[in-house]
Amino acid sequence: MDRLVDFENCKNNIGNIPLKEYSYYLGEIRKFNREEIISHTTNIYNFDIREYVEKLNYYWTDNKNYYSDFINKFPISIKDNGTREYFDKYSRPNYINFVNTYLGGGFDRDCLQPFLKSSDVHHIYPLVYGGDSQLKNLIHLSTFNHNLLHENPCEKNKIACHMGLDYLGSMYTNEGVYKILKENDIFNDCKPEMMMDYLKVIIKHKMYDFYEKIKIYFDKEVLVCH
Ligand SMILES: [Zn+2]
Repeated sequence: MDRLVDFENCKNNIGNIPLKEYSYYLGEIRKFNREEIISHTTNIYNFDIREYVEKLNYYWTDNKNYYSDFINKFPISIKDNGTREYFDKYSRPNYINFVNTYLGGGFDRDCLQPFLKSSDVHHIYPLVYGGDSQLKNLIHLSTFNHNLLHENPCEKNKIACHMGLDYLGSMYTNEGVYKILKENDIFNDCKPEMMMDYLKVIIKHKMYDFYEKIKIYFDKEVLVCH
């Protein structure tokens, strides 16, 4: 996993994502607190980000764990049996309640890009491959973003699913969008109403490039990607 996280050579990148966008996406969009960002990065990228996260204190107004806070307030007494029925009956309404309570923007907007209407609740690690219906494995998305995530060639692999989402989510941060617009010189000759269409085309290309990279990476990790 080390090759994907190389602070020395990649100018503070985590899995091809600049550190600033990465931590902003997890903190502001996913509402992870510092400890959750640290454990997510250890679990997915096998990298200890603690010393970097502790320096990045400019946007966390509190360090609350919204996920465990919500789970304590609204516990589900029925155990997740990994089925779609469980998801439909218990997790989906519970997740919508969580979004409306904590994530802001409301459930009808894509949580990564609020200019897009959301239509689906997505299992980050899909149910069919063994994912669960717990809050942290769910995200509400537009059809566009949902389809893009399911195009991940290593979708059977939990780590690859998280990497794909982290990469996509980081492109929608202010920094990420600004970079895309600048790189592609969209500022000058683009009507605002066309902006989202351009952005979607570029994001799609960037996701495909990213998928090529993780495919090569995971194909080599025979024991991990099966
Ligand atoms: Zn899905």
